[in-house]
Amino acid sequence: MGDCTFCKIYANKQGIFYEDESFFARFDRFPVNPGHAEVIPKRHLVSLLDLTEHEWINLQPAISGVMEVIEGLDLKELYKKIIDEKLNDQSVNFCNKMLTHVGINKKPDAYNIGINEGEAAGRTVHHLHVHIIPRFYGDVQDYVGGVRHIIPGMGNYKK
Ligand SMILES: [Zn+2]
Repeated sequence: MGDCTFCKIYANKQGIFYEDESFFARFDRFPVNPGHAEVIPKRHLVSLLDLTEHEWINLQPAISGVMEVIEGLDLKELYKKIIDEKLNDQSVNFCNKMLTHVGINKKPDAYNIGINEGEAAGRTVHHLHVHIIPRFYGDVQDYVGGVRHIIPGMGNYKK
């Protein structure tokens, strides 16, 4: 717990843009798309299944609250600020890509909301976090299938 990235971020109040009783949210420093955020329980827990019933109930307004913030933001300004943090070269590269992204001056057209529930599913920080990933028409060539594309070549079942 002492070593947990998200516990440290919460303790240091680093870049938190949303907070309620159970959750906080920050923007991913390695965004896959403009506005990519993470909703994170304040309590250190690993799995979605570790949430209490009360936290489950609070997850819904946390997700909708975060979407509301994303939709009201100037995303270009957001990434300029994150680039100025100079976390590391990789973060700067990811954020620079956002500045010329097809969605940078738009409100999201849709979202993918996802959890990497376990290491084999891609989890690298072992403190539950819900990815809120805005989607924009034109951000990929073939959007049919959405999260199914986590397995390359298996996303679009209509082709
Ligand atoms: Zn933690």
